[in-house]
Amino acid sequence: MTSTDSPDCLFCKIVAGEIPADVVATSDTAVAFRDIAPKAPVHVLVVPKEHYPDVPAFAATDPAGLASVIGLADGVASELADGQYRLVFNTGPKAGQTVFHVHAHLLAGGELPGFA
Ligand code: ADP
Repeated sequence: MTSTDSPDCLFCKIVAGEIPADVVATSDTAVAFRDIAPKAPVHVLVVPKEHYPDVPAFAATDPAGLASVIGLADGVASELADGQYRLVFNTGPKAGQTVFHVHAHLLAGGELPGFA
């Protein structure tokens, strides 16, 4: 499935350039852009250009693509912070997922709060 197969998907529209975003990095297969409501000094979303609803679907179909998303996030963390970061993939509504185009939340910059 390609990004253009999900015309109502917000992140497909960002990938296609149909909705503006603060893009900080791109690769052949992924796009990184700043979250519109940052939860950390650096809060960037890294998404594959192709549409997958969540990370298990992405990993099962395109594990190399998932590795590319992680690699792009790592590079962004080195560019915009000190290379130390947290990656979060919310999966399912109960986990807080609201946009069903897989995305890594890259959180970095300063001390991040610990989990409970
Ligand atoms: P949650 O909203 O609980 O974080 P997700 O894990 O699905 O759910 O993350 C969606 C993220 O997308 C949110 O952090 C939200 O701030 C961000 N977001 C929504 N619309 C935009 C946009 N137009 N540009 C950048 N980020 C966006």
